[in-house]
Amino acid sequence: MSMLPVVDDEKRARMAARLVEWFLVHKRDLPWRGASPYAVWVSEIMLQQTQVATAIPFFRRFMAHFPTVEALATAPIDEVLKHWAGLGYYARTRNLHSAAQAVVARFGGEVPRTPQEIESLPGIGRYTSGAILSIAYGLPRPLVDANVIRVLSRVFGLRGDPKSTSNQAALWSLAEQLVPDSCPGDFNQGLMELGALICSPAEPKCERCPLLPDCIAGNSSDPSALPEFPPGRSIISVTHSSALIRDNTGRFLIAQRPLHGLWGGLWEFPRVVCDPAETPAEGAARAAREVVGLETLIGAKVGKIKHGVTHHRITLYGFEAQPSSPHPDPTPLDCMAWRWETPESLENYAFSSPQVLLREALRDYLHRELIGDLQPALDIY
Ligand code: SF4
Repeated sequence: MSMLPVVDDEKRARMAARLVEWFLVHKRDLPWRGASPYAVWVSEIMLQQTQVATAIPFFRRFMAHFPTVEALATAPIDEVLKHWAGLGYYARTRNLHSAAQAVVARFGGEVPRTPQEIESLPGIGRYTSGAILSIAYGLPRPLVDANVIRVLSRVFGLRGDPKSTSNQAALWSLAEQLVPDSCPGDFNQGLMELGALICSPAEPKCERCPLLPDCIAGNSSDPSALPEFPPGRSIISVTHSSALIRDNTGRFLIAQRPLHGLWGGLWEFPRVVCDPAETPAEGAARAAREVVGLETLIGAKVGKIKHGVTHHRITLYGFEAQPSSPHPDPTPLDCMAWRWETPESLENYAFSSPQVLLREALRDYLHRELIGDLQPALDIY
């Protein structure tokens, strides 16, 4: 059985004092600092897979639209997804929405203050619980995220995969021992801010770091050698194909994805993941058939989009598709709902990021069609 590291009181107090002092001087001015528990919660969910600079405008728009937990809880999920569109990882949004409804129903609209209660909400695990309780409520709860993993692995010289069970236990134990009773929120934010601004993955700026006197890696010849992540997973390439089905009044058919899974609840042009033996055009015909039950004649390529999601590299093709029947009657086979929309009204729906690019490619295609200049479709990266 591996032993958990123990930090003595003197070192604990010294590290907390140095880090908090540094944080108060160097912290970035971010819109969720000093905000309500609800706003801190929204920001933490947004930041789970999104860079700070990207999240800021989304956060401002989201909070302007859903300023309270009640406003979020009573909004239709479509409306919430629309205001999240572009941030990706939509399971986060659906969980946030269900959790807001639970906060209103079970906790009178107040974000709960105990780990047990807050971690009973969808989408709130140990990290988010620690962040909300320490930052918004000033409770000495620990947190460990990617930045904290890097800082603590380096300060305490943790070797081996930081995601291993024993190292995760060691990191959480360290975070728990280190978080002080006074200003735990500033301490936790300081750890994360230090990881973001000073203790960077490739080139930590140890000479400017308040933890240098206590840091094992910082006093070694190569501080960036820690943490020791195993070699990365290989990238998997997949091809998706969408049918841009147009009726004889110029409207396009879109489908709403089932709630669960990748891009759940978002709208898209009917799409399938292509089989290895299938051409993208054949995939588009299958998408029309399998998603909305329509036979179509596949026409010109409208767009080719490249998009990365975790370790997948997706190439999405879009083809114009003409229904075989003059009166097409879609059936929701692999979608929750479908709509015929004009090119302009497509903008009113929450699409996934690659489908937003395909929608833009369609707009460009229709413009070129209008002026009689249909060159081969552009590739969009
Ligand atoms: S001294 Fe260097 S390696 Fe250690 S925490 Fe600071 S920046 Fe990171």
